Amino acid sequence: MIIMKFGGSSVADGPRITNVANIVGLNASRHPVVIVSALGGVTDSLIHLAKTAANEERKKRMQELKNRHVSTLKSLGLEEDLLNGDFSELSGALSEIDPGNKITEKSMDRIVSFGERMSSKIVAACIRSKGMKCAAYNAYDLGMVTDSNFGNADILPETYGAIRRELSRIGKGTIPVITGYIGKDRNGGITTLGRGGSDYTASIIGAAIGAEEIQIWTDVNGIMTADPRIVENALNVKEVSYKEASELAFMGAKVLHPKTILPAISKNIPVRILNTFNYRHKGTVVLGDIKTKRRVASIACKRNIKVINIYTPSMFLAHGFLKKVFGIFEDFKIPIDMISTSEINISVTVDQKEDISPAIDELKKIAEIEVLDNRAKVSLVGKNMVIMPKLLGRLFYALDGIRVEMMSSSTSEINQSIVVNGRDADKAVRKLHKTFFGR
Ligand code: ASP
Ligand code: MG
Repeated sequence: MIIMKFGGSSVADGPRITNVANIVGLNASRHPVVIVSALGGVTDSLIHLAKTAANEERKKRMQELKNRHVSTLKSLGLEEDLLNGDFSELSGALSEIDPGNKITEKSMDRIVSFGERMSSKIVAACIRSKGMKCAAYNAYDLGMVTDSNFGNADILPETYGAIRRELSRIGKGTIPVITGYIGKDRNGGITTLGRGGSDYTASIIGAAIGAEEIQIWTDVNGIMTADPRIVENALNVKEVSYKEASELAFMGAKVLHPKTILPAISKNIPVRILNTFNYRHKGTVVLGDIKTKRRVASIACKRNIKVINIYTPSMFLAHGFLKKVFGIFEDFKIPIDMISTSEINISVTVDQKEDISPAIDELKKIAEIEVLDNRAKVSLVGKNMVIMPKLLGRLFYALDGIRVEMMSSSTSEINQSIVVNGRDADKAVRKLHKTFFGR
């Protein structure tokens, strides 16, 4: 059995859903279990709708949402009233929102759940219309049990066994199309697994049934050697380890959320990222570990960061100083990304959008502070990159002419990062790409 998860952009309209049904058909002999997101943009629309007061504006938005789904059904030649039950239930749920109060996370989850509940029905009907046996299921009717952390729920241990049992009841000849993103808590309240949570659903279900492969179908050819908007002729990366994939995800390559594929990787199930718009392309496979000689997998770039330089010639070696510094970041809940230290200085990077001014005031009481705005972190992400003179040599040689303002001093085997001025970021990525990938 394989899992085939299709994201919002892959099921955004009639022609795209037809394409998805065809891709499923091509894999029919591998017994696919299909997981779907809401039609692209619908989760956002539902959130908007829930926050709109009960007035003309809400009516208008509701009508737009209906039109979007009905026109999709029409263009697929399917029954236009397929989702009528869902629309009336959604209207009911909306009218129950107390207009005087801020909407609760619980009501919000119930409302956004309609996105996946409706898309799964459309996709299943489209697959059936192509002559395959297929049925739509809500994940919570197949055993997706979560805690009650509405908006960002996590599964409870019984989920794995329950899903295995429920899915084995569905005959192998029927293709199940299951809602991504949603579950129910033990009291029967609908929950969501956090934005982008359909990947997590795919991974959980894949792990539960011991799938042979988990396919995440999206709109790019998997992971690339660099952002193709910066390096035009970037290459596709065939294989990455789970650690490399997580590192790249945190660097802003939004292909996969690392948490979401953990259940799959822990069961040693390969996760393959594929492109619905280029379905013959082999994409990228993420494995627990990979056997490869290559070192650098990809050059990542994270913009919009700032560097905070903390100088203290007198205090640095005093014990407790680092604790004080990091305590201040902790007190103001500012996440630190990179850290590098010298005898008299600590440099850290944080996200540009963090409001650091109160923390800076505190830091100024114990050290001299300099803040550099609009910086970018450029990283070589790869395997076995223990600091080697040769690799570092190539790195600095490539960057000749670009001012390197900070460097990760760890002996991390997975990431070598430098910080440059934001306006030099593209140039740095291109130069490194040329050096490490020859193009
Ligand atoms: N539809 C949900 C979202 O937009 C979940 C997903 O697509 O993975 O976040
Ligand atoms: Mg996604």
